Amino acid sequence: MKVFRRTPSGRTVVHYARRSYSLPRCGRCGTVIHGTDHRTLTKGPKSRRSVERPYGGTLCHRCLGELIDAEVLNEWGVTG
Ligand SMILES: [Zn+2]
Repeated sequence: MKVFRRTPSGRTVVHYARRSYSLPRCGRCGTVIHGTDHRTLTKGPKSRRSVERPYGGTLCHRCLGELIDAEVLNEWGVTG
């Protein structure tokens, strides 16, 4: 990320700053997904970038449980 800095002599120079990433959030309810290190989202081991479960890093555990429950009930034909 380019950052323009003015030096004491009045010259404008370009500095390259490290980009700060926002915390990974659930795509359904918007809560922060724990267990991820947002500083290493583009590098480092995969276990630190995401969560090891279906839809890990995309959905939180609560939303995933609700969706699985709804899908199972839908498959069984249970209403209510
Ligand atoms: Zn959620």
